[in-house]
Order: sequence, then C-alpha cells, then structure tokens
Amino acid sequence: MKKADQFIFPTAFTGNYPNSWAGYIFLQMTQQNALHPGIDWNWGAVEADYGQPVQCIANGQVVHQSRQDGVGYGIIVVVKHELTDELYNFIKTKYQIDTRNIYSFYAHLKDEIVDDNQELDMGELVGYVGKSGTTVSHLHQELYKAIPGTSWRYWPTLSAGWTAEKLKQYYIDTYDLVVNQPTSNTSNDDLLKSRADAFVAVADKLQKPVDKDIVLADIDKFLKYESLLVEKDRLISEKDSQLTIVTDKVDDLDDRLQLLDKENIELKTSIQSLTDGNKIQSEDIQKLKLKVEELQKIQPIEQLSSLELVLTAVKRFLRRR
Ligand SMILES: [Zn+2]
Repeated sequence: MKKADQFIFPTAFTGNYPNSWAGYIFLQMTQQNALHPGIDWNWGAVEADYGQPVQCIANGQVVHQSRQDGVGYGIIVVVKHELTDELYNFIKTKYQIDTRNIYSFYAHLKDEIVDDNQELDMGELVGYVGKSGTTVSHLHQELYKAIPGTSWRYWPTLSAGWTAEKLKQYYIDTYDLVVNQPTSNTSNDDLLKSRADAFVAVADKLQKPVDKDIVLADIDKFLKYESLLVEKDRLISEKDSQLTIVTDKVDDLDDRLQLLDKENIELKTSIQSLTDGNKIQSEDIQKLKLKVEELQKIQPIEQLSSLELVLTAVKRFLRRR
C-alpha cells in the first residue's frame, strides 16, 4: 500500500471555509445536539453538486464500504491511510494525535463504486456526491484515528460522553490538515495543480458523466480564488513587516532626537556659563586697567615696576569688592 504523503480536498466546493459552504463544519453543534465530527462539503451548492466526483484525499486502501437505507450516513466509504514519517510527525505535533494510520470517511454518496481492499491513489475516484441518508446532497467527510470498539457507522454524541476536547483526540479537520500540512516537498502551486489534474483524471474516468469543461472552469475559478487568498496573505505579511521597519525607524529617530535635545540643552547651559564667565572676566579686566591708570596718576611710573603696579592695583581692587 502506498503511503499517504499528502492530503487534498475531497471535492470541489462552493465558497470559502467555513461559512459559505452553509453545511456543518468541524465540531460545530448540530441539530441532534452533537458536535459535527467532520465537514459537510458542497452543502452551499444545494443540488448543483449532485453527482460531482468525490476523490480520495490521500493514498490509501478501502477498508469498508456499505449502503444503509433510511436516515443516517447512507452509502459510505472508509479509506485507511498509512502515514509517511513526515506526516506522522506533523499530525502528532499539530493535533497531538499519535497514530501511524489515519482513516478518511465519506458519506451520503450517490453510488457504490469502490470495492473492499481496493487501493486508491490520492485523487482517485471514491464515489459521487449524493444524498443517501440525507435530504440535501452534499459530502459528509471525516478524518480520524481508529476508535476502539466502534463500528464504521459510529456517530459520536454528547450523550455518549464526547466533548470537543475528547473529539480532538481522534478527529482532524480535513481542511485544516490540507491547508497546513508540510509543503516542503510540494509547493502550494503543485498541490493545486495536482488537485486540478486529479479532477481531470476523474472526469476522464467517468467518461463524461459530468461536464468536464464545467469541472475545469470550476477548478479554474477555485485556483484563481486560492491564488488571490495567497496573494492577500502575502500582501498582509509584507505590509506588517514594512510597518515594523518604519515603526522601528521612527522609534530610532525619536531616540536620536531626544539625545540631541539633551545635548542641545547641555550645550546651551555651558555656552551660557562661558558667556557669563567671560563677562565677569572682561568687566574685571576693564576695572583693573582703570585702577592701573589711576595709580599711574598718583605715583610716578618710574618708582614702581610694572609688576608692582599691577599687584598694587589688584590688592586695592580686591579689598574694595
Ligand atoms: Zn455532515
């Protein structure tokens, strides 16, 4: 059996996850007062998706398929997937679910077309969207670790003791896994292309039970939508990083301005004190000069050396201050 190294969406769907599908989403409360343990794909298409191909979400092997009339899961297929080490580790880390084998479950199918033990590659036909066991055609799809002691048609309810926390120990949101799985070996583009290829292959295999052009147009629309989402995410993260750079620069400038302000104030203070100091000095020197002139008038210059003259003037000046 080929190992599951990658997961893809089981069918085309209309609108964005989770709201526009208008069906129950992962662990949403249902009218039966239970937490919906899977995803209702294509519910939003009303009956437009009736007969649309359902593809296997990863390499695996059919371990069960059966039909049951009346209300319930209707026609179901269960596929066992043996995980690669990379996916095993990813699921263990991201969902805290430790299992080498995971099971994908497809319900309300239109016909029974696969056999027990049949090996399926990722993208191979599992069935068609139908309404067996329900009133509105859609694909109810789950992904889980085996729950010991339960049948393939087991439906976990609150009354049986299930809680959101407990459900998360067994069930995985397929959409979340497809979107977040490691893509180191496969680019997002390749993933989407493989999905498109799978649909084309399925359409061929069906010998046009669905209009291939319509399927291709739908895929094209979806791919454009997906690439727009990717572009939007890219722009948002680019904007965020630019914003961070600009904010850092502004902060840096602010710091430098504050430092300059501080330096400026210090400079002003020291200029002021220098100016004040100079004023005192120049005033004193001026007064000293005047005193020397006075002394020269009182005593003849010849009797005093110039040094004595200055000293006398300084002494008298200081005494007066
Ligand atoms: Zn459902």
